Amino acid sequence: MGETTTRPCDRVACTAEAVMTLTYVYADSMVVIGPLSTTAEPHSYDLCARHAERSTAPQGWQVIRHSVLGA
Ligand SMILES: [Zn+2]
Repeated sequence: MGETTTRPCDRVACTAEAVMTLTYVYADSMVVIGPLSTTAEPHSYDLCARHAERSTAPQGWQVIRHSVLGA
């Protein structure tokens, strides 16, 4: 088997598999939600599909969603 990047959702009490990474970009007041990152970065959180969908930005912030396109 190859290396796996499967990680659990970072939300408390959620055991679903993380499929998206949410990153807070403080300098630009942006929340970027994109495909699961393979590297752990500061201010980033791995989320399952449900929590990624429900994530909202703090007031005054904008949300950038990179949709995962199917093949
Ligand atoms: Zn979750």
